[in-house]
Amino acid sequence: MLIELAHLTKSYGSTRAVDDLSLQVNAGEIYGLVGPDGAGKTTTMRLTCGALRPDRHDGSEAPRIAIGGFDMLRHTDPARAQIGYLPQRFSMYEDLTVLENLRFFAEVRSLPSSQWRPRCMEILEFVGLADFVNRRAGQLSGGMKQKLGLAAALAHRPKVLLLDEPTTGVDPVTRQDFWQLIIRLVSQEGVAVLVSTPYMDEAARCTRVGFMRQGKLLVEGLPGELRHRLDGQVVEVFGSPLALLRRLAQAEEAVEDAQMFGDRLHLRLRPGQAQAVVERLAQAIPAAGGVLGSIALIEPQLEDLFISLLEDGAGA
Ligand code: ADP
Repeated sequence: MLIELAHLTKSYGSTRAVDDLSLQVNAGEIYGLVGPDGAGKTTTMRLTCGALRPDRHDGSEAPRIAIGGFDMLRHTDPARAQIGYLPQRFSMYEDLTVLENLRFFAEVRSLPSSQWRPRCMEILEFVGLADFVNRRAGQLSGGMKQKLGLAAALAHRPKVLLLDEPTTGVDPVTRQDFWQLIIRLVSQEGVAVLVSTPYMDEAARCTRVGFMRQGKLLVEGLPGELRHRLDGQVVEVFGSPLALLRRLAQAEEAVEDAQMFGDRLHLRLRPGQAQAVVERLAQAIPAAGGVLGSIALIEPQLEDLFISLLEDGAGA
């Protein structure tokens, strides 16, 4: 296993940003850390790369961070050498060219001078920036800057890649491109990736997903497996006006949650109640003057599980 985190806790004053978190990522795996703002994803990343040190509490289990077998807390340098880290706000030198920027990051990572140029060219080729080596970083588009960030994180051939919300704020095409690169990297080089993301479609692409809330890892598993936890409990409703449909649904005792997803409504029901609720709503909606397009039990999405986990803990 390339990333091993055990019993990590980190507090800021009275805020427990990370609370006894443990997770593992194997070579060739993409582990997606998903959670709302403030869940503790960035703090987890910063602990993993050694930028922060976990708290030690008397009586609690000792924290452990092992990267490629190196103990981050005892042998920080060799552990860090295994990691490529793309922070949320990656900064580069805007008045240096693409190649100069990359050379800088390669040198910081002590890549020998005989190696930096071929490696930089190889990596720029990989991320699709080979034609732009002489362009100043300040002149790059948002998507290209993102790729330069990835190239910089990869310059020293890390075995472990940490990506903190790498596609937040970039356009859908760039997000798509970026994921293609990550998937290729994992399949070709067997890198282990820990990526945080607020996007469920990205979570669905990960090998494994962990949901975080208030510093805790609530649940983890394969995306498909996680979705199936709500089998038989999610009903999709098309119709109008959605606000009326939602009000009627919320009046049903068996409806635990009703969320609008664009032009449709997802209802999460208590187990075993779907048929009865579908039948009642199919009558109640037209009776209340609404238009019912369709109402049916569907395969749950990761979003549904995510929302159910947030709801469950809302009062905690
Ligand atoms: P996420 O990345 O999931 O949005 P963070 O790890 O950034 O979450 O934050 C987790 C919690 O820790 C939040 O409540 C945040 O306000 C708090 N926090 C994070 N960094 C600091 C800091 N440097 N000082 C004080 N509080 C912090």
